[in-house]
Amino acid sequence: MNAKEEMDKIAKEILTCTRCELYIHRKKAVPGMGALNSKIVLVGEAPGREEDESGFPFVGRGGKILEASLGELGVKRSDVYITNVVKCRPPKNRRPKSIEVLSCLPYLEKEVLLINPTVIVLLGATAATYLYDESLPLTKLPRAKKLEKIRGIPGQTKIQGRSFTAVATYHPAAVLRNKKLKTKFLEDLKLALDLARFSCSSV
Ligand code: SF4
Repeated sequence: MNAKEEMDKIAKEILTCTRCELYIHRKKAVPGMGALNSKIVLVGEAPGREEDESGFPFVGRGGKILEASLGELGVKRSDVYITNVVKCRPPKNRRPKSIEVLSCLPYLEKEVLLINPTVIVLLGATAATYLYDESLPLTKLPRAKKLEKIRGIPGQTKIQGRSFTAVATYHPAAVLRNKKLKTKFLEDLKLALDLARFSCSSV
């Protein structure tokens, strides 16, 4: 089975998944999307309304900000792989519960292991909370403070015994709400791209 066939198989599992209660509320489950040979995987929190309706990740206003930011750094959206921690929209865009995240993480793990990126970009506090393997004692900090503390500092994500370089930054929706975060957001994305020694011709 080649990489595309394997990813299609993962997507098919996601589309019919009933592992957690979020399946009850969804219109469409939203698997990840993008280049399967990308050196970078970007991980958000969960699908929103537009994603739930379309079945594609980051197609709403947050997605536009992400796409524009990547564009400012010379990277096309189609050059990278974009996904979420949970693949179904939580009602009213609430934060996913731990049980939902833990139920869904095996899909993200499969996506990452198949793509085998150099860098994982953690978009927002949920992705950072579950996937940033910190050496600093940050776990007792509130989510927002924790993200502020670790953003822009290369860390690690461990998946099934394998370590990947991780860069945490703001969720594009937060950048949308607070334009002052845009500069730091761009800096963090640039750091991730530099760490991956990213070039469009290499993906
Ligand atoms: S959020 Fe994940 S685990 Fe829950 S139903 Fe959707 S695909 Fe399955």
